[in-house]
Amino acid sequence: MAQLQRIAIALSQLQQNQILLTAQQQHYLSRVLRLQKGDRFIAMDGMGKWWLAQLKGEEAQILETLTVETELPVSITLMVALPKGNGFDEVVRCCTELGVACIAPVLSDRTLLNPSPQKLERWQRIASEAAEQSERSFVPTILEPVSFDAALSSFATQQKYICEARGNYPHLKILYHNQREMSIVIATGPEGGWTENEIDNAIKAGFQPVSLGRRILRAVTAPIVALSLISAACEV
Ligand code: SAM
Repeated sequence: MAQLQRIAIALSQLQQNQILLTAQQQHYLSRVLRLQKGDRFIAMDGMGKWWLAQLKGEEAQILETLTVETELPVSITLMVALPKGNGFDEVVRCCTELGVACIAPVLSDRTLLNPSPQKLERWQRIASEAAEQSERSFVPTILEPVSFDAALSSFATQQKYICEARGNYPHLKILYHNQREMSIVIATGPEGGWTENEIDNAIKAGFQPVSLGRRILRAVTAPIVALSLISAACEV
């Protein structure tokens, strides 16, 4: 199955055993991927379902439902203070490859970016493409950007970490234990770091400050390192 091309579809495109392809998908399959009628590909709904499908023109025939096991055993939500420029694109792409379940962009005291409304659509597209390429069965959810304070109170999860570049905090790798919790939240700050007030508020909201090592990582690198540490710890 490894060589087959994959495309993401919406559930509304399914009709009995057929996939009604959009004009864009038809173009992509036949012009970009050069598939012919009768060729097979994989359709995924981004919510855990994969199907082996056969191209028939404007439609595709579903041949069988596939089982994929590429998801992490723990659901990770990343709360990321938006980095400047297009840095968040890289965070979405890499963290999707690493298995993140949800990314919550936040506006912190030192966030320099004010994202346009079109950005969310762009990030969702990047997540969808990255999920396809890394053969994930789920496309991560990208939430609307909200203030850091609003984000702090929106996760009921028990294991919550806030990455802080300075201070003598325990390393995430030592603190993280995956025996009990099925979901965790990790927050990373912007270029200028978190303010003292933000760290205090996070602690009050149940976040544990953690280190990612002795070097200061860029705002774009920190979430990728945090994800790598957790996935290394919980996957064998
Ligand atoms: N300007 C800040 C300073 O000098 O302390 C550094 C901010 S760093 C570029 C951006 C964010 O990445 C931080 O807020 C933190 O969340 C995370 N980060 C970077 N290096 C880290 C480290 N070694 N341990 C924990 N978090 C780190």
